[in-house]
Amino acid sequence: MQNDEYGKANILIVDDEPFVRKLLEEILSEKYCCQTADSAEKGLNLLQSENFQLVLADINLGGMSGIEMIPHVHNQSPDTVIMMISGEQTIERAIQAMRIGAFDYIGKPLDLGHIEVAVERALEHHSLLVAKRLHETKLEELVKQRTEELIYLSYHDPLTNLPNSILFEDRLSQALYQANRNKHRLAMLYLSIDRFNMVSDTLGPKHGYELLKEVAARLTESVGEEITIARFEGDEFAMLVSQIDSTDDIIELTNRIFENLEYPFVVDDSEIFISFSIGISLFPDDGKDEQTMLKNASAALARAKEKGGGNFQFYIPGINHQARKRLMLENNLRRAVENQEFEVYYQPKIDVWTEKIAGLEALVRWNHPEMGLISPAEFIPLAEETGLIIPIGNWVLRNACYQVKDWENKGFRTGRLSVNISARQFEQRDLVQIIKGIVDEVGLPPGSLELELTESSLMKNPQASIQTLSKLKEFGILVSIDDFGTGYSSLSYLQRLPIDILKIDQSFVSEITNNPDNVALVLAIIELAHNLRLQVIAEGVETAGQLDFLRDIGCDEFQGYYFSKPVNSESFERLFLMNHQSV
Ligand code: C2E
Ligand code: CA
Ligand code: CA
Repeated sequence: MQNDEYGKANILIVDDEPFVRKLLEEILSEKYCCQTADSAEKGLNLLQSENFQLVLADINLGGMSGIEMIPHVHNQSPDTVIMMISGEQTIERAIQAMRIGAFDYIGKPLDLGHIEVAVERALEHHSLLVAKRLHETKLEELVKQRTEELIYLSYHDPLTNLPNSILFEDRLSQALYQANRNKHRLAMLYLSIDRFNMVSDTLGPKHGYELLKEVAARLTESVGEEITIARFEGDEFAMLVSQIDSTDDIIELTNRIFENLEYPFVVDDSEIFISFSIGISLFPDDGKDEQTMLKNASAALARAKEKGGGNFQFYIPGINHQARKRLMLENNLRRAVENQEFEVYYQPKIDVWTEKIAGLEALVRWNHPEMGLISPAEFIPLAEETGLIIPIGNWVLRNACYQVKDWENKGFRTGRLSVNISARQFEQRDLVQIIKGIVDEVGLPPGSLELELTESSLMKNPQASIQTLSKLKEFGILVSIDDFGTGYSSLSYLQRLPIDILKIDQSFVSEITNNPDNVALVLAIIELAHNLRLQVIAEGVETAGQLDFLRDIGCDEFQGYYFSKPVNSESFERLFLMNHQSV
């Protein structure tokens, strides 16, 4: 509402009779600020330069009539209230005027009291109109703001505020158009956190999100503003470099990104190291449209992960095929977990002196409905990478424990049961709890269970490994180091690990009878192990010669085709009987 400087309402009086103008002005100027005009045209002119809350207009004017004036007033100033002045003979027309938008009328001869009341009411109505309009504009603004928010959200990731895949594809398509027109190259990078499922399983979802935010921040820091970074689903990020001169530009960029992601992430007050993989596709070499560019960058990423992660990979034609094959195997493996297509085989461990069964190792087999028996060497790495090793490993452990319990109930003395635990299983925070749970559930004495771990899984996080091993030891479970000799750990490091058994890798055993270097190393290992009071077992023993040799140099037990391949539980029972182990 625009009042004059004293806060009075502005009223415009339009009447062609000077007497009426004067009278009204006199009555109203005490309370209000009044201006007059003797024609509708002049009145409208005044309205153009000034704001009036109220217009008092005579119905009959020379030229444009008061009624004709109404729509013009409303056009110019929608909140201005109009009141007609009518003679007795024009009452009918005053009512008509109200139909088209006048608020009220006052009759001639003018009645002082009536005019004051009518003007006050009209001004109140004006205030209401203004309030209503204000409300409406606010509402409009709110709707506009919310709409903008919704539009923003549909093109951005709310967690990181980065563009999402929709916006990315849009920018990619624009960039491809430009690159095609100007004949330059462009690149898209696909980045993902290695083994993110495992990381987020251990951290919990909240800290997983924190980690993603930190990754987004570091990525933004590593690249210039001209590079679009987007967050796709889960732990996947995409980057668009809309113009490159050579692949060296990209190698430099990925190095910068890796450098920025290298130092540890602080999540939940602890430092964690994570590695990343990047897949790269180039225009025009690897694709001409956005779908092909995306698909090929994703195939390159899958290849980078297959190679163990922590690296980048340019797209190579043909890797799509590998990626598809892998995806198929992964899907099959998921189904296998649901349908329990696995079976546990057992391989006996033999005492070198008595040649009696001293224990057995559980080795998983996948009974694929079409492909038949699949060896773990083919699917364990994939199960590791996808996290499926956790349910598979738990299933193997439970199954083998029940089997051994069953044999004990039947009177067989099976000796110790060994179960393989892969790196990813070992990294589970609640591993000890899970194993305890299964052992207790089955009712197996913890001392009859042995876990086989590789050097590399223990070395990933030596401090945490020592803790987990100590907890297992406390519970009574034994631990052996599998494939010993193939890792890089120094022998002295062994002293610090609470372990019980060393398993010499089969690669040493296979050459033991003809490679003197190997002999020296095996001898050294056995001596050291015995000094540390560790038992030594050799795996992959295939010949009598190898066994004789191992016996001579003080090996305690052996395992290998020489005595028996891994067999199913039925065949294992027969092995027992032949080995005179039944009571
Ligand atoms: P590993 O733990 O080193 O197991 C020994 C492998 O050598 C087994 O292969 C076994 O069948 C094979 N082997 C035994 N004796 C001989 C021999 O005299 N000569 C030769 N050439 N080979 C012999 P398999 O069963 O194919 O298992 C391969 C690997 O898969 C295992 O290596 C282990 O790392 C992994 N694995 C098997 N079962 C499981 C499981 O339940 N959980 C986990 N996490 N890993 C498993
Ligand atoms: Ca093993
Ligand atoms: Ca082994």
